[in-house]
Amino acid sequence: MSSKALPILPGATLGILGGGQLGRMFTIAARTMGYKVMVLDPDFASPAGQMADVHLQADYTDHGALKQLGAACAAVTTEFENVPAASLIELANHCRVSPGAQCVAIAQDRSHEKSWLAENGFATAPFALVYNEGDLDQGIADTGAPALLKVARFGYDGKGQARVNSLEEARAAFREFGGQPCVLEGFVELEREVSVVLARDDAGECALFPVAENRHENGILDVSIVPARVPGALAEAACSMARDVAGTLGYVGVMAVEFFVAGGRLLVNEIAPRPHNSGHYTLDACVTDQFEQQVRALCGLPLGDTRLLSPVAMVNILGDRWRDGGPNWGALLAHPNIKLHLYGKETARAGRKMGHFNVLDADLDAALRLAEQMRHAL
Ligand code: AMP
Repeated sequence: MSSKALPILPGATLGILGGGQLGRMFTIAARTMGYKVMVLDPDFASPAGQMADVHLQADYTDHGALKQLGAACAAVTTEFENVPAASLIELANHCRVSPGAQCVAIAQDRSHEKSWLAENGFATAPFALVYNEGDLDQGIADTGAPALLKVARFGYDGKGQARVNSLEEARAAFREFGGQPCVLEGFVELEREVSVVLARDDAGECALFPVAENRHENGILDVSIVPARVPGALAEAACSMARDVAGTLGYVGVMAVEFFVAGGRLLVNEIAPRPHNSGHYTLDACVTDQFEQQVRALCGLPLGDTRLLSPVAMVNILGDRWRDGGPNWGALLAHPNIKLHLYGKETARAGRKMGHFNVLDADLDAALRLAEQMRHAL
């Protein structure tokens, strides 16, 4: 995409690869702004497909579908990192595509991602690349135990991860994962986890959303708290590192950088080449939300104002809550400062992200207290 490219204006059609909740919120933002949206997703009941003008129900590698998408759209983006990089390259023959295939290729494979971070001087947890069982001997010597064995590809929300306390356990976990390429990561005593969602345009301008403090449960994001309760210097350092990651990648679009805080230091955990769950607070608490920002970056429009309008606590709603008759929406919606977002998923499964809610309050502690209360009342 050239820096002289004219902006794509409302009335044009935008495309998105992937029809999950992130694609749905992109679709809503784009349609609100007057764009038409075409979603490519093989699932007939995809959350984004329900909201789109056109849902192409086909595989991400289907040449006919990619051609149709590229011909109809002025620009195409993605909502998930596991889209084949080759499909992005194919689409780029027809229309504007962001983020670029090489950024997605780095983020979609933990071994590429960790190696890229280390090569470019970004601190991470100690790690070793594991391609066969023999690599584990040196690996565990390098990372120490306990450690986490993580599959290099297609792991998410703590899936494809095993905590191992010894070489024997690491070997067993590697076999359990079918011997596929993995990353062994030293277990870090976390003080906190924080993330930065940002957008970068093709002229290199960056707009950063306020740092989020994230609490995970069983490897899945549970609560995001904004502003993050960390020293100002640490928040600034996180922003500066996130900006550097995006700049070094030559990234165009919205991305997230997740960090561990350990021993007062920041370690990069993951890069997401897309809007991020920890940025859902922006939907109600910022002048521009991360999905409008995705539209703006994709269309070559000036990036929106990322100012925080109110302290906020975001709580994920997982499928587990449907176990005993379904969530108590009445209790949640009784509060005028809670904003509910549901993703239109028909089947609730344990660990499946079904929606989230944002609690807004001028007093962050009060927002967090109500968020906790509602987590239990649901
Ligand atoms: P990931 O999918 O790699 O982001 O891992 C999900 C969550 O597991 C993280 O947000 C952390 O809470 C936890 N986790 C992952 N890697 C480590 C590690 N090396 N040390 C401690 N906790 C970790």
